[in-house]
Amino acid sequence: MSLPDTPRQSSYDVVIIGGAMMGASVAWFLADHPGFDGSILVVERDPSYEFSSTAHTNSCLRQQFSQPINVQVSRFGAQYVRNFRQFMGDDPEVPDLHFHDFGYLYLAGTQAGVDALRTAQAMQVQQGAATRLMTPEQLAQAYPFYDLSGIKLGSFGPVDEGYFDGGTMFDWWRRRARRAGVEYLRGEVTDISVDGARVHAVHLADGTRIACGTVVNAAGPRAARVAVMAGLTLPVEPRKRYTFVFEAARPLDCDLPLTVDPSGMHVRTDGAYYMAGHPPRVDDPVAADDFVADHDLWEEVVWPAIATRIPQFDSLRLHQSWVGHYAYNTLDQNAIVGPHPDLPNFLMINGFSGHGFQQSPAMGRGVAEWIASGRYETLDLTPFAYDRIPEGRRLLEQAII
Ligand SMILES: Cc1cc2nc3c(=O)[nH]c(=O)nc-3n(C[C@H](O)[C@H](O)[C@H](O)COP(=O)(O)OP(=O)(O)OC[C@H]3O[C@@H](n4cnc5c(N)ncnc54)[C@H](O)[C@@H]3O)c2cc1C
Repeated sequence: MSLPDTPRQSSYDVVIIGGAMMGASVAWFLADHPGFDGSILVVERDPSYEFSSTAHTNSCLRQQFSQPINVQVSRFGAQYVRNFRQFMGDDPEVPDLHFHDFGYLYLAGTQAGVDALRTAQAMQVQQGAATRLMTPEQLAQAYPFYDLSGIKLGSFGPVDEGYFDGGTMFDWWRRRARRAGVEYLRGEVTDISVDGARVHAVHLADGTRIACGTVVNAAGPRAARVAVMAGLTLPVEPRKRYTFVFEAARPLDCDLPLTVDPSGMHVRTDGAYYMAGHPPRVDDPVAADDFVADHDLWEEVVWPAIATRIPQFDSLRLHQSWVGHYAYNTLDQNAIVGPHPDLPNFLMINGFSGHGFQQSPAMGRGVAEWIASGRYETLDLTPFAYDRIPEGRRLLEQAII
């Protein structure tokens, strides 16, 4: 999308920093909110989105989380994806979003892993999810292609777990937001003016000053940098995550659930191919522009892990691979959402730690509600509030992949 680099106005009611999935979601939900008629500017440093998390996502959705609020967020995500056209005003131009339910299968190989799956499954069912536990015998019967050595329990989600076409959702949010009057600008925010307990303006790399009533930090893995501009800290850092798309010489005769292996590898069906993901060997923070790949990871770590769990995958051909960045919340691997307590017109939608794509409908809607009415009108997102950070109170999400 080619964007202008000069804003039409010198002042906006709301400036959103970052125009990828989260920025687009806030912009669309706010433009669509009946209680809001202010001006909205989205500032994006790279309209190609080439290095954004959004461009590197695997676009999957699941109900299996360890925190009830994350299950609720994903339940709305699934409802939104399945009824996208209705949510977009029943517009016949809006397409249906493709959703491929293959289910997630978490495998536990230790007693601690078993206990975690049992606790999470009970909570998920209470929240309305369809998760069921499977013994090794049940797993072997349902999925005879796994080598289940060392596996003590599985947890499978047969409903609302799989791939969805988040890219189309992203396109339509941007398209509709612009039609509703949201302005998109190419530019990098390099400074933020704060006076007392209020943000007054953002400054761009080319020296442009833009006054604003509210700022939204939707800068993904660069969120901590943006927070620093306003004198704030955020425990969010870029961490590399690898994706591999491969072809099997002997494909399975059924869908492969998104299998979360105790080794740290995950693998699933991807049309005629398969897709696997893996963290780096050393999971340290990296520079925001560091996308250098460990080219031996596939051969030395990932493929062996896949072939161990699915012996039929002993002969594979790597088709494509990439490295993306998670915006990793080092406190508790969960989102940080809402106003900063010391700077109430600085809003955050940050720290998604690898599960932000599916959370974008609920999170964008919530931030828009907060801006429009000063409260969450639908799903209460206060568990994600910033207050827990200085208090060291963790909302620990254990089911991250
Ligand atoms: C490999 C991988 C797999 C994933 N798989 C899944 C999945 O299966 N399911 C799921 O739910 N989630 C998944 N995620 C996570 C999901 O993709 C992200 O949570 C989501 O895309 C985050 O969107 P965002 O808008 O917050 O960040 P980003 O997409 O990174 O966007 C931030 C934007 O802000 C812009 N920006 C930054 N700083 C500035 C500035 N100073 N001025 C102007 N613009 C700025 C950037 O250019 C960028 O476009 C995955 C992520 C990765 C990396």
